[in-house]
Amino acid sequence: MKMTPARGRTLILGSLCTAFALSLSLAAPAYLPAQTFPTEDPVIKRLWALGMDSSRVQQLAQVFLDSLGPRLSGTPQQRAANDWVVKTYTDWGITARNEQVGTWRGWRRGHSHIDLRTPRVRSLEGTMLAYSPGTGGQPVEAEAIVLPRFADSAEFVRWLPQARGKFVLVSAPLPTCRPVENWTANATPEVKARMDAELRAVRSEWGGSSVRGTGYSLALGSGTLGIRLEEAGAAGVVTSRPKDAWGSIDVFESYNTRTPALALSCEDYGLVFRLADNNQKPTLRVDADAELLGEQPIFNTIGVIRGSELPDEYVVLSAHFDSWDGGSGATDNGTGTLTMMEAMRILKLAYPNPKRSILVGHWTAEEKGLVGSRAFTEDNADMLDGIQAVFNQDNGTGRIVRIGGGGMANSPRHINAWMDKLPSEFKTQINFAGPGSPSGGGSDDASFACHGVPAFGLGAHGWNYGQYTWHTNRDTYDKLVFDELKGNATIAAMFAYLASEDPEKVSRERVDVAARAQAGGRAPGAMAWPACQAAPRKTNPRLR
Ligand SMILES: [Zn+2]
Repeated sequence: MKMTPARGRTLILGSLCTAFALSLSLAAPAYLPAQTFPTEDPVIKRLWALGMDSSRVQQLAQVFLDSLGPRLSGTPQQRAANDWVVKTYTDWGITARNEQVGTWRGWRRGHSHIDLRTPRVRSLEGTMLAYSPGTGGQPVEAEAIVLPRFADSAEFVRWLPQARGKFVLVSAPLPTCRPVENWTANATPEVKARMDAELRAVRSEWGGSSVRGTGYSLALGSGTLGIRLEEAGAAGVVTSRPKDAWGSIDVFESYNTRTPALALSCEDYGLVFRLADNNQKPTLRVDADAELLGEQPIFNTIGVIRGSELPDEYVVLSAHFDSWDGGSGATDNGTGTLTMMEAMRILKLAYPNPKRSILVGHWTAEEKGLVGSRAFTEDNADMLDGIQAVFNQDNGTGRIVRIGGGGMANSPRHINAWMDKLPSEFKTQINFAGPGSPSGGGSDDASFACHGVPAFGLGAHGWNYGQYTWHTNRDTYDKLVFDELKGNATIAAMFAYLASEDPEKVSRERVDVAARAQAGGRAPGAMAWPACQAAPRKTNPRLR
């Protein structure tokens, strides 16, 4: 094993006086440990140099997230982003194309202006839910009312005429918009306990699948309740789904077809709710621009560096391309997308003639039911046998700290051999805990695992992903941690290279999931290998 200094930083120290050298080394950021390479593999060293010293991730992210923006399925923005990725690969000399996998309901998001008009004027922090209708070219001004509690659905239907011409507040009014950790850190135990009890009471009063006894739900956003209120002539429906975080709300979707469905911040929803609840007659003025475009084609973007020895065997770099659109889809899954794009860029430079083909899959409509990746496995069934490994990444901006074995019995032999060739920084950072289990459906690796294809998830360090950015209005460029992303791209490229060069193909032998269930004290049938599900190739016409 040879010790090699990292990035030339320590090379110059010998020619400097000790004191200056010491101050330089103290000034060296902590994230740059001395790097050792276990072998003299020139491709690994070149990938390291390209990925860590001349990363393009930040530049790519700025265009991708700021200029192109979120990639909600069925939107013109998603299509423009597909085209940009193809053009970028083409500029790098990588063959790429968009492959249509079906259609999704098309929608153009315009502006959302939501103002409180009485009893005082304030512009509110909020936006339309995805796929919401707008206000038809002119603002709508109407009173906001609280959805009452009903004994049953019949009582709700009798009440519905009172919703006509009103904005109806349908979400729980949280008594605090401070995160739990802030209460834990600051409140006395008694005060904290009282707030916990209040939160529980509000959640139980407003929770459940039948909101307030209406018999209708807010599933996925404004749900069937939004549709029923729209049918009754309401001016619109107002929701809020705060995360346990400062300023973050989930922004999902609406199935309304005529009137807007809005998402307000925790703070502004609470304000309007209290005004209505205390009979202070809040009125809202909503000016929302949107266009429902009907079913539109949706595409996977696929890039390939053709294999020179085994072109029909594939290493697949995998990350879903679509996002929700309350923010820019930065960590879900802009980061996976950028990681795999940058990996392809540096692979093309350092390893232009791979042994096996290296394919990158930017899957569409993962958020709608793994549509793109499932469709790919259906449309390219003849390729599945030739897949050596799939590396999927879909949990945010953090450094990769885990690789899963995907339930493949022989994964330790291969993954441990690959890990042994990684530079020391990556090898110590990544935990591999054995064959594990196949992915059950949380991300696109599941679409391959169900066919028995070796599909390995690259798990990132958390960075409060679920709490702050996942599906929220705060999922934006500024949340990215570029020092970790450039490492992730380099790791993905190195795994792709090592899997491509592996003298053996990863076998299809599966771990015995029944035996594992039994060992865990469960019935043998409790853990079955996940079955493949058909890709939903178009939008469900109606949410029911
Ligand atoms: Zn995702």
